[in-house]
Amino acid sequence: MDDRTLRLAVPNKGRLREPALRLLREAGLVFEQTERALSVTVRNADIELLFVRAEDVVELVSDRSAHLGITGRDLLREESIRLKRNLKESLSLGFGRCDLTVAVPTESALEKTEDFEGLRIATSHPNLTTRFFFRQAVKVKVVPMKGSVEVATKLGVADAIADLVSTGSTLKVNGLRPVFTILESEAVLVDTTYTDEVIPDHERILTSLRSVIAGRRRRYLLLNAPTEALDTITGLIPGLEAPTVIPLAEDGMAAVHSVVERDEVWNLLPRLKEAGGRDILVLPIGQLVP
Ligand code: AMP
Repeated sequence: MDDRTLRLAVPNKGRLREPALRLLREAGLVFEQTERALSVTVRNADIELLFVRAEDVVELVSDRSAHLGITGRDLLREESIRLKRNLKESLSLGFGRCDLTVAVPTESALEKTEDFEGLRIATSHPNLTTRFFFRQAVKVKVVPMKGSVEVATKLGVADAIADLVSTGSTLKVNGLRPVFTILESEAVLVDTTYTDEVIPDHERILTSLRSVIAGRRRRYLLLNAPTEALDTITGLIPGLEAPTVIPLAEDGMAAVHSVVERDEVWNLLPRLKEAGGRDILVLPIGQLVP
């Protein structure tokens, strides 16, 4: 490793680890995955992966031990306030989605932010929670907790909690109901704001990660159709530029290739079929570099 090596901090455990490693592999990085290694050298790029706790990623990027990091937006914002540093979120990575949500015991009548005036709120995100209520001009007492936040109201140490929620089932099991959301979170790429260092692979990794995320949101669609159906079909699937239309060896038939939004495929398929499309293939896209 020399001073041109790009250091990328990745969660060493927890729910963000596996999807983060999968993303890096799909972006083209080749590396060994060892459970306990603290760092690993990427074989085909001048990149070192540093495995640290998701909550430590931000501090590592902040103190320049790493150039980039993958962690949750909630942790990026929480730690940025704590460290008084304005670190950049350069990419949303599309996994690890959850909300920092204020929840109260199911039977509680609390609804609006102003109902919380003077109450105690337990959370593992004290800085975000404090700032949220401060901005709403509502005075609350924030009770910092490291974990098991959802038991705080039962223990009597708080009247409400602010915790990460994805499905809501943990809240339900603990007799809590969500009231409002402080922050919508997902995994993000944290970037250093320093510009005095030129790291050759910095732009390349950003482009490559972006291309994987862009590819995941889309599908490659191929179909055959009679030429008289082409106008309707190409109208349904505009593609990135325009769809590719290739004549088939069989007279009066053509193949249409296009890139479509993944979320539109469900509605598109029956319409393409109805318009005369057949032999329709929907393929995943590994990377999409515009
Ligand atoms: P972990 O290391 O498993 O505790 O993961 C911590 C990070 O995963 C959080 O800071 C969030 O960014 C993210 N995350 C996604 N969904 C959830 C969830 N339901 N509960 C807690 N963390 C979540």
